[in-house]
Amino acid sequence: MSQATRWAIPDGLPEKMFIDGQWVASASGRMIDTIDPATGRVIGRFPDANTDDVDRAVAGARKALGGEWRATTPTMRGRILARTAALIREDAERLAYIETLESGKPIREARGDIETAAGYFEYYAGIADKLQGDSIPLGPDFMSFTLHEPVGVTAHIIPWNFPLVTTARGAGPALAAGCTAVIKPAEQTSLTSLILADILHQAGLPAGVCNVITGYGADAGASLTAHPDVSHVTFTGSVPTGKTVMKTAADHVASVTLELGGKSPLVVLADADLDAAVEGTLKAIYLNAGQVCSAGSRLVVERSVHAAMMERLVPASEALALGHGLDDAQLGPLISAEQLKKVADYVDGARARSVSVATGGHIGEVTDMEDGFFYTPTILDQVSADEKVVQEEIFGPVLCVQVVDSPEQAIAVANGTDFGLVAGIYTRDINRALEFARDVDSGQVFINQFFAGGIATPFGGTKQSGFGREKGLAAMASYYRVKCITTRLT
Ligand code: ADP
Repeated sequence: MSQATRWAIPDGLPEKMFIDGQWVASASGRMIDTIDPATGRVIGRFPDANTDDVDRAVAGARKALGGEWRATTPTMRGRILARTAALIREDAERLAYIETLESGKPIREARGDIETAAGYFEYYAGIADKLQGDSIPLGPDFMSFTLHEPVGVTAHIIPWNFPLVTTARGAGPALAAGCTAVIKPAEQTSLTSLILADILHQAGLPAGVCNVITGYGADAGASLTAHPDVSHVTFTGSVPTGKTVMKTAADHVASVTLELGGKSPLVVLADADLDAAVEGTLKAIYLNAGQVCSAGSRLVVERSVHAAMMERLVPASEALALGHGLDDAQLGPLISAEQLKKVADYVDGARARSVSVATGGHIGEVTDMEDGFFYTPTILDQVSADEKVVQEEIFGPVLCVQVVDSPEQAIAVANGTDFGLVAGIYTRDINRALEFARDVDSGQVFINQFFAGGIATPFGGTKQSGFGREKGLAAMASYYRVKCITTRLT
């Protein structure tokens, strides 16, 4: 069966951007092709926005901020977000199909992502009318209270690994707080964010409140973060781009939330339930082919259980079948040829420096998908702490194993990189687990289940992994500012 018949391209994919309630082409008329990373086939195209388009989108967002959105009650804002969640669920299968086609991820993971995106709107819908200020006791002669005001026009720069989820994660709390938004999805994966614009519109969101512009980071992304009418930038992506975004935002004193990379440890102590630890490790490193900011990419294991872990992890990795996400393969392709080269270079470099490759370590070959960007599930064993592959984010299906001799050393090794996004530990000793949680330098800690938590659990980094928190109630802090009003009673 030909690729065209086997993985059909759905009709009606968006080819325009959504600005101020209208579907529009880019000012330049230029378009960007988007491809299926499993086959290299072009599946769609969308506008290549420039500064003029950004100006239009920010102007629309600014007008809506002081206009119709300001006049919409918090309860009504919540209702629109709740309707958005319902509409995403109604359209879930189509959205998951398109997400898989464009990002390469297995369809079961895409289905989970679409449900999570709906979940964000549902969660933040409930918060819209519960953002309350304080009253401050200054004695009988004064009354003092605070208002939670929306920060203004917010920019959302989205990565390619979780396109719709990351868009929903930022737009949900921003809109709940009464902000307006301009969203710039990644140039590799813009389709589902464009479809979300349509869904928000159908849910009753007024024109201009949520705009989606498509284009390249250095052009559309940079213009958006530099725009003086943008009050806050929520960025998820790489460390170098995050630093650039922060510097650009500083020029007009916009606040930023930066969710950057990670090199997160998954610690397995000698007393751990090894079945759970193996299952957790496989998920931690192979979800979305390892292209996850919070991937558990370092297995920090106590020496006495190292062999037992490897005996299970190696065959389990080798059993994972590479293939097309729409066939629900166990592991899909990487996002691009560039990403594939980056991953291969890291592993080849490590091998050349005599790092032991326990399994994998090469480009994946898949029948009928010779132009896809596949990489085999890879485990690098007994890697020293100063190795480049231990210190730098690879963003692929490559696990580095670090062997330690005590729980104390495990904490030191867990903390031994410039990142601090998440950390996991498997042990039956809750006291040891809580000591680890206390001493590890990261934004989230998972005990006995990597990736435990979800929409409601605050997420964000320390060190080079960034700052600010997304998810949960904590995310709201990025989208409102506190105004304090004090009156003297005469
Ligand atoms: P990657 O290198 O893996 O694509 P990036 O961090 O560069 O990761 O990309 C994440 C997001 O940031 C994408 O939407 C991209 O278009 C955007 N981006 C890239 N460069 C810039 C920039 N200079 N300013 C704003 N956004 C950018």
